[in-house]
Amino acid sequence: MTQGRPLLNRRLAEFGTTIFAEMSALAVRTGSINLGQGFPDTDGPEEIREAAVRALRDGHGNQYPPGPGIPELRTAIADHQRRFRGLAFDPDTEVLVTAGATEAIAAAMLALLEPGDEVIAFEPYYDSYAACIAMAGGVRVPLTLRAPDFRPDLDALRDAVTPRTRLLLLNSPHNPTGMVLTREELSTIAALAVEHDLLVVTDEVYEHLVFEGEHIPLASLPGMRDRTVSISSAGKTFSYTGWKVGWVTAAAPLVAAVRTAKQYLTYVSAGPFQYAIAEALRLPDSYFDSLRTDLRRKRDLLGDGLRAAGFEVHQPQGTYFITTDITSFGEKDAYAFCRALPERCGVVAIPNSVFYDDPDAGRSQVRFTFCKRDDVLHDAVGRLRRLAP
Ligand code: GLN
Repeated sequence: MTQGRPLLNRRLAEFGTTIFAEMSALAVRTGSINLGQGFPDTDGPEEIREAAVRALRDGHGNQYPPGPGIPELRTAIADHQRRFRGLAFDPDTEVLVTAGATEAIAAAMLALLEPGDEVIAFEPYYDSYAACIAMAGGVRVPLTLRAPDFRPDLDALRDAVTPRTRLLLLNSPHNPTGMVLTREELSTIAALAVEHDLLVVTDEVYEHLVFEGEHIPLASLPGMRDRTVSISSAGKTFSYTGWKVGWVTAAAPLVAAVRTAKQYLTYVSAGPFQYAIAEALRLPDSYFDSLRTDLRRKRDLLGDGLRAAGFEVHQPQGTYFITTDITSFGEKDAYAFCRALPERCGVVAIPNSVFYDDPDAGRSQVRFTFCKRDDVLHDAVGRLRRLAP
């Protein structure tokens, strides 16, 4: 307190330490297996790491790269969008490199919202959404995805739109539930956006991690090209979450708006890594196929283990997370359960309850990640069996 006033401003007052930091610290403190925060325990392709080393040694990106990102990466992002999604973006005006998807989300909210604008977002939502909407002075309007299948209630979405709605903040494949929006759902959402002249920000960081169905970019649907800000990131696709290379693709006026905010957040980031990710985006299809196949196998390994340990498992169609329900253990408070889990069996997980505004909707949901080595997953599953009554 100074001058009788809290130091943290009102917009951020409800936000403490992120659950990921809290639970990773708990894992370190207790020596537990960390199936909480989503980061792989094996680095991505070696040739991509070597490309970063080469860039560092050759002095590429050691000084400020250009504000929108190095041309090589912007071109690689545009080519990747064409190759995998059939979407054409001009690398000079329609692509923006950001400090991870996290900065892209923040810059989009800061650029596109006026104070009081309403943002409709699925809950459970990735934690930075709420904070970024708040920092921009926006008002979040959650649309609750409900177990067991977490499909969006599109009638409820229609009802949630008001004259103050400015944008929809979507995430598919969806963290934490693993839900992947279908073409029908996306078409309904697109039609609603067109009807009410809404912007859409779509977080597609798990675009290559779809095990059932397919990833359909919202920007490809009729009427959406000019109102959609698509966000993705190298972190998940190439297993280098620490490099923080993300990007935005959108029509030029939207990119210009987001860039205006982004310039004053980090200006630029990750110079040498930008060169490496430009190469990564050009890896052959076999890379992307084996990433997915490998993670599907890990999903099944962990899913079977969680079921055997007594959890109710909500099968994810994408991402590298499994949402479970702990009611079968006679428990109903996910946060308390996760706090006690290291002590009980030496494993750390994430309580989905913190990703909901509706305290009842996710109270008994716990998320585990499976982007870990097989031996780690086997070990974790063995430990979790100790929970069985
Ligand atoms: N996206 C990661 C997860 O959901 C965590 C990223 C972070 O710690 N901010 O686990």
